[in-house]
Amino acid sequence: MSAGRNFILGTAGHVDHGKTSLLDAIRKTAVAAGEAGGITQHIGAYTVMVPSPHKEKAGQMEQITFLDTPGHEAFTKMRARGANVTDIVVLVVAADDGVMPQTVEAINHAKAAKVPILVAINKIDVPGANPMTVMKQLQQHGLNPEAWGGDVICCEVSATKNLGIDKLLENLLLQAELLQLQANPKRQAVGTVIEAQLDPGAGPTLTVLVRAGTLKQGDPIVCGPYWGKVRAMYDDKGAKIKQATPATPARIIGLNGVPEPGTELTVMASEKAARELGEQRQAEMRTVTTAVSRVASREALLEAFEAEKKKTLKVVLKADAQGSVEAISGALNAIKSDKVALEIIHSAVGAISENDVLLASASRAVILGFHVRLASGVSDLAKRENVEIKLFSVIYELIDAVKDSMAGLLEPVTREVITGHAEVRKVFEVSKGMVAGSVVSDGRLAVGNRVRVLRRKAVQYEGFIQTLRRYQDEVKEVRAGYDCGIRLDGFQDFQPGDVLEAYTIEKIPQKL
Ligand code: GDP
Repeated sequence: MSAGRNFILGTAGHVDHGKTSLLDAIRKTAVAAGEAGGITQHIGAYTVMVPSPHKEKAGQMEQITFLDTPGHEAFTKMRARGANVTDIVVLVVAADDGVMPQTVEAINHAKAAKVPILVAINKIDVPGANPMTVMKQLQQHGLNPEAWGGDVICCEVSATKNLGIDKLLENLLLQAELLQLQANPKRQAVGTVIEAQLDPGAGPTLTVLVRAGTLKQGDPIVCGPYWGKVRAMYDDKGAKIKQATPATPARIIGLNGVPEPGTELTVMASEKAARELGEQRQAEMRTVTTAVSRVASREALLEAFEAEKKKTLKVVLKADAQGSVEAISGALNAIKSDKVALEIIHSAVGAISENDVLLASASRAVILGFHVRLASGVSDLAKRENVEIKLFSVIYELIDAVKDSMAGLLEPVTREVITGHAEVRKVFEVSKGMVAGSVVSDGRLAVGNRVRVLRRKAVQYEGFIQTLRRYQDEVKEVRAGYDCGIRLDGFQDFQPGDVLEAYTIEKIPQKL
């Protein structure tokens, strides 16, 4: 095996620009270059072995791990909390199509996460392909090609014709070196949780991508607010392993809770130290703290909000231009409320994409679109994921709708409205029970109304009006000045002089 170069790649780019094809080409190249079985298929991640770009290491293989499931829940959650497990993003741009809205979105995502970008200008085999134009467009978006004195490596490739793939991989390794993404297998291991579940038999089970160091069976670990020790470890095929080296995904058992995907897992010096750190984090989550550190800080804050019963409306904002994104974000952040918080978990230029929906679904956010459309398939996905998408073309309408949604999170205030009174004059017995022969003194009484029986102002009973009768006829309602027979649901002990007070409960939406 290699020295364990630890870096993790993600691909991004506009739809149909060739992300999938490029990964396929890389896999094929790696298989052809490496020994048979040079690829290990992992959960949401796979590792390829490629020849070292260094002459002095000729013949040696190096390892690259790809995370290639952008729709994966873990990514959405990781992005949602601003963590990013990818060390380098390979931005795929088709040379015959150029920079498109999703390309820009990908650039913004990578910039936001401070992840370096390497550009693969794909489809150079297509007649009319123009890598120069792509580079110019990239420059307009702040990515300066290395060939023109900038720091962004652009590789011209054809995924389907298998052109330039070797060069791309070589550049990836060199870039990783520049970034010093050299893992030290001897350091204390750290990893990122990709998935975590509660297994009925084994307890909390996590899939962890080891990012540095070597994770070993028996290691004391802390992960968010949970701690424990690695009781057992398995590789992607379910085989028991004793250790996991950098850039390797492993399934582990032994933590005392289920952390969120994206949480960092750290090996500690002792079980005592792991427990202390875990307990400290739990305490931080319980008491409201603004101490920002660790991956769990956002959850800690949200939990604190929940503890205070302060509700948060989360939004994903997509707009037609960066200027609109900024203007709307500014206006939204200016909405003041003591009762409801607003959090823009993602904002970008471009059509509403499936990723936006997944992000919104994972964080229970609503999606706001300003002068944008839905990418294909988004509408169906949103229905399945139960995500609300609202489209606007006027800013103040958008702001008003957000205010309404924020207010909608608040429980309405209830208010009692008295609708009428009746005074009991005489009490009759009928086959079904007692009837209060009464006169409606003010307002009106209606069947189904809430009612209370007052005797010298003390409440004897609260319930509902079951029937109202005028002479022989059952009626729905009796107004002031008329007499009637009243039966209540579950009350018989009327006395002459009792007052029946009818009322309704109104729900009043709260103001922000
Ligand atoms: P993705 O949506 O970014 O994953 O794009 P795909 O990998 O699915 O590719 C979209 C289409 O472009 C497919 O029909 C591919 O066969 C085609 N394609 C991808 N790479 C190349 C390339 O280098 N040259 C040519 N001519 N076609 C390509």
